[in-house]
Amino acid sequence: KSKAKRFRKGESQVSFDDVAGLENAKRDMREITGYLKDPQYYRKLGAKIPKGILLMGPPGTGKTLLAKAVAGEADVPFFSISGSEFIEMFVGVGASRVRDMFDSAKKEAPSIIFIDEIDSVGRARGTGLGGGHDEREQTLNQILGEMDGFDPHEAVVVLAATNRPDVLDPALLRPGRFDRKIILDLPDKKARREILQIHASEAPLADDADLDRLAGLTVGFSGADLENLLNEAALLAGREGKSAVDMAALLNARDKVVLGGKREMVIND
Ligand code: ATP
Repeated sequence: KSKAKRFRKGESQVSFDDVAGLENAKRDMREITGYLKDPQYYRKLGAKIPKGILLMGPPGTGKTLLAKAVAGEADVPFFSISGSEFIEMFVGVGASRVRDMFDSAKKEAPSIIFIDEIDSVGRARGTGLGGGHDEREQTLNQILGEMDGFDPHEAVVVLAATNRPDVLDPALLRPGRFDRKIILDLPDKKARREILQIHASEAPLADDADLDRLAGLTVGFSGADLENLLNEAALLAGREGKSAVDMAALLNARDKVVLGGKREMVIND
């Protein structure tokens, strides 16, 4: 049985409106949702739709969110699996999971497969570190084999995410596999403002909460960092018995997220 996480048709409630910024990525993805909604029409036009699309960008920039939004917009089933799940697995299990997931996706086509952290299985083969890791290699080979085996008219689109495109096995990037790449950048000020707005709609903001100013003070923050900031601010406001999230709480939370990030960097050194 496939252990891939799945949303059935109608279950992914995420839409492009939930994704702030990333205009280029959304434009490219609209083409895919158009195809998934009406594959026959595109087939008649003789249009070739990419089978595999690689979403590349730093952690927390919305790769998973965007993939779910594609499923939500097209209203098709979404199957997802993370490359990191295959590490430490018994040999053969990863490959059979991949096979099951592709079988289910084909049965329910049009559909989307999302492979998060593809670099965990998709590192260049035979590069010393992790080299000879049978399980990883078999899983990767299974993914490649499944993609090669697609009927050209199969309406299954495979999205994969990575923040380490530099380590990927070139075999993954060959034509007919992940030959389309979409880059997700860290949000600029306008996008940070929008992300704050999207996530702040869940919390009561005090009158002095200035999201515009906060967007200017969060250079380098990812969408996930901003979401984290808002949550920290709500916790701080709660601890102080405030009835709304004010600017002081937002600024303190910002410092906390910045320091948290620094601490992590020191450990990594
Ligand atoms: P990772 O590489 O760590 O897996 P990711 O790129 O897949 O990260 P997501 O899991 O999609 O990132 O994003 C984490 C959370 O951050 C999302 O659930 C969302 O709440 C928020 N977020 C990130 N980017 C955006 C964005 N552009 N618009 C709105 N929310 C965002």
